[in-house]
Amino acid sequence: MSYHLIVIGAGNLGTFHAYHALTRGKKVLLLEKDAQPAEATVRNFGQVIPSGMAFDTWFEYGRESARLYRTLQQRTDLSVRANGSYYLASDDDELRLLEELSGLLRERDYACQVLTKVQCLAKIPTLNASYCTGGLWAAEDLSVEPRLMVHRVRTLLQRAFALDYRFNTAVIGCEVRNGQVEVRTASGETFRADHVAVCNGRDFNLLFPKLFAESGLKVVKLNMMETVPLTGVTLPGNILSGLSIRRYESFESCPSRHQIATPEWQRPYLEGGIHILFKQALDGSVILGDSHEYADVREAAQLDFSLRNDLNALILREAQRMMNFPTWQIQRYWAGYYGQTTDGGAFTQTIDERIHIATGIGGKGMTTGPAFARQRVESIFG
Ligand SMILES: Cc1cc2nc3c(=O)[nH]c(=O)nc-3n(C[C@H](O)[C@H](O)[C@H](O)COP(=O)(O)OP(=O)(O)OC[C@H]3O[C@@H](n4cnc5c(N)ncnc54)[C@H](O)[C@@H]3O)c2cc1C
Repeated sequence: MSYHLIVIGAGNLGTFHAYHALTRGKKVLLLEKDAQPAEATVRNFGQVIPSGMAFDTWFEYGRESARLYRTLQQRTDLSVRANGSYYLASDDDELRLLEELSGLLRERDYACQVLTKVQCLAKIPTLNASYCTGGLWAAEDLSVEPRLMVHRVRTLLQRAFALDYRFNTAVIGCEVRNGQVEVRTASGETFRADHVAVCNGRDFNLLFPKLFAESGLKVVKLNMMETVPLTGVTLPGNILSGLSIRRYESFESCPSRHQIATPEWQRPYLEGGIHILFKQALDGSVILGDSHEYADVREAAQLDFSLRNDLNALILREAQRMMNFPTWQIQRYWAGYYGQTTDGGAFTQTIDERIHIATGIGGKGMTTGPAFARQRVESIFG
């Protein structure tokens, strides 16, 4: 059987490549090497935060993706919650950046509101008064459940658009022959298509290893944890910390960003690439993290599989400075990984006009992936 498009990798990028091709009436096969996608797309916070994106195409991709998530949510429950993000400042410098960001968001008609300390405490009763000098509510940001969302999108595509989906199907070969792309799997099957989209996340050894070794990509490892369900705690939306304000790309456009000093106590946080995000899941548990360790793609094995306790201790210390939860019992720890480019974009390459690689989208793939995939599919089919 022959397809218009075969997509390799059923993470967020691959699934939304499939979505955009299917909605153009194309016949699509989606191949996933594992029993179900188990990589960055299901290991993340599920924060869809255009407000944190660089004010170039990525902010617009974020906004378009949020619109698409909302539209699909009306069709079937994807776990999308339209509750916004709360950025919490811990000092006057961060508060100034929030005021400046609110101006930049308003210029782009992106709904937001600067909050006083009193308003933050009223919205988030578990917030420690000693932490907060004020906040910003980015009202159009969303959250999704990372363990659910991509599976529900895929199920919708199978049901409504006749997506052909095969799991436990690792692709080990992909080349153009006789005007079509031939895709070979580890179990010996061969599939053919006019085009192939390679959305392989951080799996750089199975396909095109030489190309990826020379790509300049970095592999990033993030420490994550999740509390037990917290009785009586309701976070009103995504929560981002002062450290996030100092890290997220949208703040790079704030006039004061490079005038503010880094307090000495933040040094180990900077070294560990740590900022603090909270995201409450539907059962009341709270996902919290994260840290960032980096390695060149050729040395990704240096990112050990074990979790560094010193980084987790720093994450918990700052989280506890922010929030007064009834318990800090952690039910799960895990590591997530993604590839990232050095210029803040994504890695794309087309081979022989028919094999289209799209990966290395970094820490913004849940926020921007659906719209980025739309642009890629447009470039494939016009
Ligand atoms: C801990 C963590 C927290 C994050 N938090 C957020 C957040 O809150 N908001 C946000 O916007 N972004 C966040 N991100 C980033 C986001 O999760 C990623 O950008 C996004 O999930 C990348 O999607 P992807 O489809 O490119 O990759 P992946 O999710 O890695 O999917 C790639 C898939 O391809 C499959 N595959 C690979 N090779 C083959 C092959 N040869 N054959 C068949 N299948 C193959 C893999 O098994 C995998 O399922 C976070 C990431 C991490 C790790």
